[in-house]
Amino acid sequence: MHVLISGASVAGPVLAYWLHRNGHRVTVVERTPELRVGDGGQAVDLLGPAVEVIARMGLLPQAEAARTSTDTMTLIRPGRPDVTIDAAQLLAGISDRHIEIMRGDLARILFDATREDVTYTFGTTIERLQEHAGGVDATLSDGTTATFDLVVGADGLHSGVRRLVFGPEEGYSHFLGGYLAVFSVPDFIGLDERVLGYNTVDRAVALYPTRTPGRARVVILFRGPRSEHRDPAAQRQLLRTVCADLGWEVPRLLAHLDTADDFYLDSISQIRLPSWSRGRITLAGDAGYGPGPAVGGGSSLAIVGAYVLASELAAAGDDASVAFPAYERALADAVAASRTIGPSVLATLIPRSDLQVWTMAQAMRLLPRLPRFLQRKLTSFGGGPAAMLNGVDLRDPLVLRS
Ligand SMILES: Cc1cc2nc3c(=O)[nH]c(=O)nc-3n(C[C@H](O)[C@H](O)[C@H](O)COP(=O)(O)OP(=O)(O)OC[C@H]3O[C@@H](n4cnc5c(N)ncnc54)[C@H](O)[C@@H]3O)c2cc1C
Repeated sequence: MHVLISGASVAGPVLAYWLHRNGHRVTVVERTPELRVGDGGQAVDLLGPAVEVIARMGLLPQAEAARTSTDTMTLIRPGRPDVTIDAAQLLAGISDRHIEIMRGDLARILFDATREDVTYTFGTTIERLQEHAGGVDATLSDGTTATFDLVVGADGLHSGVRRLVFGPEEGYSHFLGGYLAVFSVPDFIGLDERVLGYNTVDRAVALYPTRTPGRARVVILFRGPRSEHRDPAAQRQLLRTVCADLGWEVPRLLAHLDTADDFYLDSISQIRLPSWSRGRITLAGDAGYGPGPAVGGGSSLAIVGAYVLASELAAAGDDASVAFPAYERALADAVAASRTIGPSVLATLIPRSDLQVWTMAQAMRLLPRLPRFLQRKLTSFGGGPAAMLNGVDLRDPLVLRS
């Protein structure tokens, strides 16, 4: 088969890798002019089954070499003493197999593993899709048209393929009540390997080091009513307004807002489609079942989802009418679980009251004194993102025709 994939970040290259291993020709189109690596982007979590998929791709050494190294996390509260804890204790319950890695580093590793075997076309999007008995005609933004056997949208939360096939995003994007802003600043604090968090009611600010010496990244989560903030100038203004009364180093961080070239603000929303396949076209990763940025283990779901899609195609002899429903069934429980995790993680990350800020600080103080099994239980978000993937059957790679 010749398969067209839109999106070269996480789900796209994982899928491309396994489709190629199964003898298919793969073309990946990516909107950005080059691989979006920057100085790493945001940190993402590879959990249990996602680590297993990376291992089956032979990429575990590269992923482990690129893992982030956070020593301590410090909670800063207005007018109260700071609370510092070993990062390992705070992350104890996340998963037995857990790799935190910058999304850009992960994308680079996946791209390098596939670039020889897969055709990547950067600066290109799919403009039109027309399915017929013999395949799908795709018109690309460079003006070319070609026929593909299958098309997969792995193009993220605001997927273009999804819009072409399932219509405007408003119909299935479910707002969780919060926003996420990320931008880089000079590391004027001297973070080394520390992560700092400043939590107040309805707003949570985190500051962590980036791979580039002397640079740090700010993540601000806040609650707010639904509204479409697409214009970057309006988004910056919104952030300034929301954070206007915050103390600590927040005013200094915001002073860099206008000059940050990687400023990002988006609503924390989930993609809830009852089915994410139609005919010979399907979706993978955030495009099909994004659980919400930063709250639901989206990168692990993207990796596992892409792998399951490739294995179901192999098991069905490349018949999409069998493979796509099987792919959706195989992921259904994990996707349903991811939809419940997002709201509870969001509720934990952004305090609703001073009492919740206080409780969080007490829990952090208590954690190091607890036995390991209790540490794990308390930091697992009720089984959370790692547990949601444990039920997914990662078929033996021998099912794949490699
Ligand atoms: C700030 C932030 C923090 C996060 N933190 C975490 C975390 O701690 N843990 C975690 O597991 N996950 C986290 N996530 C989510 C994680 O990044 C995603 O779930 C994961 O990257 C999904 O991978 P994907 O390949 O499906 O989509 P994406 O990584 O979004 O990639 C989509 C790709 O498609 C491209 N594209 C977009 N539109 C088009 C188009 N029309 N045509 C062609 N290409 C297109 C994009 O440029 C991009 O390269 C976070 C996300 C953000 C934004």
